[in-house]
Amino acid sequence: PGYISTRRRDYRSGGVGRVPAGIGSRRLRIVVTGGAGFVGSHLVDMLIGRGNEVIVIDNFFTGRKDNLVHLFGNSRFELIRHDVVEPILLEVDQIYHLACPASPVHYKYNPVKTIKTNVMGTLNMLGLAKRIGARFLLTSTSEVYGDPLEHPQKETYWGNVNPIGERSCYDEGKRTAETLTMDYHRGAGVEVRIARIFNTYGPRMCLDDGRVVSNFVAQAIRKQPLTVYGDGKQTRSFQYVSDLVNGLVALMDGEHVGPFNLGNPGEFTMLELAQVVKETIDSSATIEYKPNTADDPHMRKPDISKAKELLNWEPKVPLREGLPLMVNDFRNRILNEDEGRGM
Ligand code: NAD
Ligand code: UDP
Ligand code: UDP
Repeated sequence: PGYISTRRRDYRSGGVGRVPAGIGSRRLRIVVTGGAGFVGSHLVDMLIGRGNEVIVIDNFFTGRKDNLVHLFGNSRFELIRHDVVEPILLEVDQIYHLACPASPVHYKYNPVKTIKTNVMGTLNMLGLAKRIGARFLLTSTSEVYGDPLEHPQKETYWGNVNPIGERSCYDEGKRTAETLTMDYHRGAGVEVRIARIFNTYGPRMCLDDGRVVSNFVAQAIRKQPLTVYGDGKQTRSFQYVSDLVNGLVALMDGEHVGPFNLGNPGEFTMLELAQVVKETIDSSATIEYKPNTADDPHMRKPDISKAKELLNWEPKVPLREGLPLMVNDFRNRILNEDEGRGM
C-alpha cells in the first residue's frame, strides 16, 4: 500500500496546511538527488517498494542509468538529468540529498566541482526544501571526523580535518553542507536530518572507483593482486548497503535532526579485509603493497549508540555475510566488460 499523507501543501504560498483525511490523501512524493549512484539506487528501490513516488535528480557523473533501468516504465518513478549546482523547481514532500561523488578517486578528479556540488548543490536543495516545506536529509560522511583523535567516533566529536589538503573538497565540503543544513533549520525553520555515513559497500558500486572494497573484489575476480596501500594496518568499519538504506529511512521518517552516525562498528585493518576477500572469492589471491594516499585517516569506527537509542536502528549484516552478496553483481559486470572488449 502507498504511503498515505494527509498533509497537503499549498505550493504557491509555500505554506503547509492540514486537510481532512480523504481529500488530500495521496502518496508521499520524494526526491533523491544522486539516485543513479550506488547508495541512491538502493534507496530508490526501497522507496518505490513501499509505494512512494520517487523523482531522481542525477548528472550521471558517477551514477549510471543501469542502476535504475529496472524502474523505467514504472509510473511512480521519474529520472531527471540535472546538476544540483543549478537551481531546480519541484514539488515534493521529502528530499534525500545524496548527490556528490563519494570515492576519493572521483572526488579528487575535479575538486572544485566537488566543493561546488557540496556547497551550491546543498544550498539549492535547502532553498527548494524551504520554498515547498519539504523535509531535507543530508548524507554527510564519517570524513567530517578527518584523521580522528577520538576512537571510536561519537557525533559529539568535532573532528581533525586538514582544511587545505587533497581530501578537503570532500570533507570540508560536507562539513559546510552540515553547517548550511543546520543554518536553514535554525534560521528558516526547514525540517532537516543529518546522517554521517561510514564506509558502505554492496552491489552496484562502480567497478573501478578506487574504493578499497570494490578494488579488492574486482581484483580478486580478475585474478589480479589485491592492492594494499601503506602498511595495511589502517582501519575502516564496513557497512552493507541495505543496513544503510534502512538507517536513512528511519532517520528521515523519525523525529530527530541528528547528526547520526550510520555505520557498522565491525572494524578491520586493510590486511584483514584482504583476508576476508580471499576467503570469499579466491584463496590464492596475492597482495601487492602500494604507497598510501595523502591525509589517509589511520582508523575509523562509528559509535552508534545514538542511532540505536533514538532511531531504534542498528546494522544487521556483518562483513563476512555482506561481501558474498556483491560478488555476483561484480562478476557479471566484469564479464560484460570483457565481452565488450572482445576478450
Ligand atoms: P556514488 O558516486 O555512487 O553516487 C553519487 C551520485 O551523485 C552519482 O549518481 C552521481 O552521478 C551523482 N552526482 C554527483 N555530483 C552531482 C551533481 N553535481 N548533480 C547531480 N548529481 C550528482 O556515491 P555513493 O557511494 O552512492 O554515495 C552517495 C552519498 O553518500 C554521497 O553524498 C556520499 O558522500 C555519501 N557517503 C557515501 C559513503 C559510502 O561509503 N558509499 C560514505 C559516506 C558518505
Ligand atoms: N532554489 C532552488 N529551488 C527552489 C528554491 C530555491 O533551486 O525551489 C535555490 C535558489 O536558486 C537559491 C538557493 O536555492 O540559489 C537558496 O535559496 P534561498 O531561497 O534560501 O535563498 P535566496 O534565493 O534568497 O538566495
Ligand atoms: N585502500 C587500499 N587499497 C585500495 C584502495 C584503498 O588499501 O586499493 C585503503 C586506503 O588507503 C584507505 C582505506 O583503504 O586507508 C579505505 O579507502 P577508501 O578509498 O575505500 O575509503 P575512505 O578512505 O574514504 O575511507
